[in-house]
Amino acid sequence: MTHQITLIPGDGIGPEITEATRRVLEATGVAFDWELAYVGKTAQEMFGSVLPESVLESIRKNRVALKGPVTTPVGSGFRSVNVGLRKGLGLYACLRPAKAYPGVPSVYSGVDLVVVRENLEDLYSGIEFERGTTEAARLIELVSETRGENLGSDSGVSLKVISETASRRIVRFAFEYARANQRRKVTAVHKANIMKFSDGLFLSVAREVARDYPDIEFEDRIVDNMCMQLVQKPDRYDVLVAPNLYGDLLSDLCAGLIGGLGLAPGANLSDELAIFEPTHGSAPKYTGMNKVNPMAMMLSGVMMLRHLGETESAARLEAAIAGVIAEGKHVTYDLKPEAPEKAAGTSQVADAVIARLGS
Ligand code: NAD
Repeated sequence: MTHQITLIPGDGIGPEITEATRRVLEATGVAFDWELAYVGKTAQEMFGSVLPESVLESIRKNRVALKGPVTTPVGSGFRSVNVGLRKGLGLYACLRPAKAYPGVPSVYSGVDLVVVRENLEDLYSGIEFERGTTEAARLIELVSETRGENLGSDSGVSLKVISETASRRIVRFAFEYARANQRRKVTAVHKANIMKFSDGLFLSVAREVARDYPDIEFEDRIVDNMCMQLVQKPDRYDVLVAPNLYGDLLSDLCAGLIGGLGLAPGANLSDELAIFEPTHGSAPKYTGMNKVNPMAMMLSGVMMLRHLGETESAARLEAAIAGVIAEGKHVTYDLKPEAPEKAAGTSQVADAVIARLGS
């Protein structure tokens, strides 16, 4: 069977790691029909839009996409394409496994965590009031009237929105994932001691949902404590479920535990659609240098193969990547901190993975 997949190369290092990943996926023997789609800066130049409607249509049609990272201007410029894709397609769950492969230079060994991040709400709702605008002034007035709090008239405001519906959906997703993947525990991460009506709601819903899964242990942690606990004893944790912002931060923290962003894959999922992409961004300073690690995107490809039901090929590709890491010869600079001058380039990593797939 040929799988029709929307392929989004992205910006910065995106096209290089996408090409490396496409090559290793094809080397598994699984047949793909790639439908190329452009977003971000590239799409802006080609079509005058950073997120053309045709890209959303392509993903709705194919139901599965593989995506490189996209640059988002900081502070000003266009809104995030990633947020646009996730919102436009209702991809409510972000799944980010952090698994340590033997041979990775890291303080830890044996880490095997999964971050489940709510993908559509929280401070990423995109509901913002710019300093000095009429809308911001009206909001500041409303807060003063209803809460008696005087916000500075030079304030900008971003809303943190947490709903019962989205909280229930993401916590249920985390438990279902835990059950389907033989995981023992789900930890809900929050700051409910301070934000009682947003994080507090998330936590109370999480506790309620947990009662439906007596076979899986449940606990909660305040996010600051969670960060320390993960650094000190990551082996005590398993599946973490969190609202959007904490999930984003925890994903990078967990990537740091397993050797860095170059090894952290991810998926954005709804009940119908899936976009697989690495956790990392477009690392613009390395663009076109054939330097960065393509393994985070390759491992996102492994997740995609599993999603497509190609479990045997997924296992072979994961084993080939793990073999290249363990051998330590054809790995990029981030996995060779002692001798970066001996590091392989992005395309050489793909060659080494393909060689192992063939053997
Ligand atoms: P980044 O993840 O792009 O890079 C941070 C650093 O991590 C890099 O400088 C590099 O040292 C390291 N790194 C990242 N990917 C690596 C790889 N594959 N191999 C080796 N090292 C790697 O984060 P940033 O610099 O904060 O963001 C750059 C841009 O990417 C921003 O515009 C940001 O908005 C965007 N971004 C996009 C996505 C996405 O498309 N899903 C995710 C995160 C950030």
